[in-house]
Amino acid sequence: MNRTIISVKNLVKNYGDFQAVKGISFDVQEGEIFGLLGPNGAGKSTTLEIIETLREKTSGEVIVDAFNLDKQPNEIKKIIGVQLQSSGYYPGLNLVELMQLFAGLYNKNIDPMTLLDSVNLRDKAKNKYKELSGGQKQRFSIATTLINTPKIIFLDEPTTGLDPQARRNLWDLIIEIRNRGTTVIITTHYMDEAEVLCDRVAIIDSGKIISLASPDQLIDDLLASGFERTKQVKLANLEDVFINLTGKHLREE
Ligand code: ADP
Ligand code: MG
Repeated sequence: MNRTIISVKNLVKNYGDFQAVKGISFDVQEGEIFGLLGPNGAGKSTTLEIIETLREKTSGEVIVDAFNLDKQPNEIKKIIGVQLQSSGYYPGLNLVELMQLFAGLYNKNIDPMTLLDSVNLRDKAKNKYKELSGGQKQRFSIATTLINTPKIIFLDEPTTGLDPQARRNLWDLIIEIRNRGTTVIITTHYMDEAEVLCDRVAIIDSGKIISLASPDQLIDDLLASGFERTKQVKLANLEDVFINLTGKHLREE
């Protein structure tokens, strides 16, 4: 494989006098899980929303699956899946009704139950969105990105605020979606998550990419520079203890 599906060159975004994205460049390969890592305010969401055609860029070039963002934004929209802000969901509709509503927006015929099944929400089909737990809401919102059978999906901090069980469950789902052939771009500020999920990561800080490689490569580079941890690391961490004590099964349903 190794075909470039997204190419970003010298992307700049100014909000008035403030430059939020300062000329970043990166490529995403077809079929990979690509992570944009960075602290709050780094410019991750701005970058994603520009590629998703939802925000105007100031300058730079963005190509998605050979379509130029400036000339063919509608072609790009057809092949991507984007998570809506949760405020966009009518709280009083049930999951099947919401799925049908979104399918209508995409002008697609879908079987809501198949999609709900694919994110393990068949049992909640008749429940209203507002009745879902945090993890279920995230799974539902990922299902909505799959309605138009996209080539690429964009996930902006999909696990923020979830408990360890729900987080791991979502990781499995994201890996499953990628294994079915979909390219995934994800933002996160959880490094353990990036290490588990991402084939490659770009570390972005104050609007600049300061490093880009596989997690393994970045760690090896750091060690090669002479870095040593001040405290000897044990072969398990507190999250392992927690999962071991409380189990991996979801608690929310
Ligand atoms: P991240 O997703 O990495 O947390 P964002 O892309 O949301 O970062 O924001 C990057 C910077 O741009 C932040 O300093 C943020 O305050 C600023 N910013 C984001 N959106 C706007 C906006 N609509 N108007 C002005 N500044 C904004
Ligand atoms: Mg953000």
